This record gives sequence, C-alpha cells and structure tokens, in this order.
Amino acid sequence: MRRLIIEIDNCRKCRLWRSAKRSVPGEGSLEASLMFIGEAPGYWEDVEGRPFIGAAGKLLERILNENQLERSEIYITNIVKHRPPMNRVPRADEVEACTPYLDRQIMIVRPRLIVTLGVQSTRYILSKVNVKFKSISEVRGRFYEGEIDGVKVKVTPTLHPAAALYSPKYKTAIENDLRKLRYNLNRQIRESEHHNLEPNINI
Ligand code: URA
Repeated sequence: MRRLIIEIDNCRKCRLWRSAKRSVPGEGSLEASLMFIGEAPGYWEDVEGRPFIGAAGKLLERILNENQLERSEIYITNIVKHRPPMNRVPRADEVEACTPYLDRQIMIVRPRLIVTLGVQSTRYILSKVNVKFKSISEVRGRFYEGEIDGVKVKVTPTLHPAAALYSPKYKTAIENDLRKLRYNLNRQIRESEHHNLEPNINI
C-alpha cells in the first residue's frame, strides 16, 4: 500500500492533479473487513490529504459510531484520488484513469464488504458484479454478492453523505442502510460463532 500511495501521489494520468493541492489516496486498517468508497476529495480532504474529514465525513462518522463502527476499523477511499475543481463530478476519463488504483486497494485490503457512497462509486463497483441500475434508489440498502479482482465480496450501496447534509430524508436513508449493514455484520459474526469458526469479519 505504501508503494501504491507514492504512485498515486505522483500520478499525472489525468488533469486533476494540476488543480489539486495534494492526493487523497485513502486511509484505514489494511486488515479491514469493511471498505467505504466515496466519490472524490472535497475542499478539506484536498487540504489535509485525508478522505472524508469535512462536513460529509463528520456526518458519516457519526452514523458509523451509532452503529458501533469506528473509522479506524474500516478502510475508506474514493473513486478518484485528486479533488476535481469546484467539486465537480469526476469525468469518465478521470474515473477510468484513477480506478486501477482503487482495484489495487481492493486487492490489498481484501474487504468482505464494500459500502459504496453515492452514484459514482455505486456505478463503478456494481458494474464489476454485473448489476445494472437506473437510479440509486433501486439498489441502496441491498446486498449484492460477487467477486471483484479475485476478492469475494458483498456490496451494499447507500447515498452519498454530502446529499444528506441538506436533506433529512436522505440522512434517514443512510442511517437505515447502515443499520442494515450492522445487522448483517452481526449475523455473519453469530453464524461463524455458531459453527465454532474464527469470525471471518473483524468488527
Ligand atoms: N466526499 C467524498 O466523496 N469523498 C471525500 O473524501 C469527501 C467528500
């Protein structure tokens, strides 16, 4: 991962590095069972080089904590690793240039569960498990099984926390989706205990 982070830092494969202050590769436990994938760094992420530390990140962290999940236990990253100017949506060629880094992060961390935050990351990750959708409301809060880059995973999409900052309805939707995620994790832990196995999920 250290080598990958250096590559991301030096990446010039698309235009985004020109306007960004620094790269935001991602952070968290390399042993994490859970990976969260957002869209792109925003203002504060660009200043500090860390993902989800602005207002959307604080909201996400609160919802995580309400579900007995700590940021330090998960791995958190984005579809693109440099901030797009004026926080615009990343373009198709930028996503294409940057997602090989995400693929490698998935291969290194080997998460059991991936939570996609918002349409961009949901589109990319669900396409890898052959799930098509028109609107994120069709897929959010559901669990999809598949194999991504040789890693067996469940994927559960939810809305982007930035949308929830301005809409109580969206906030409730994310809270409900992450509660379902907690329930699913608990069930997986109980099942492995029942079979006297080491829990295959470390949270
Ligand atoms: N929004 C994202 O998608 N990612 C971040 O890191 C911050 C805000």
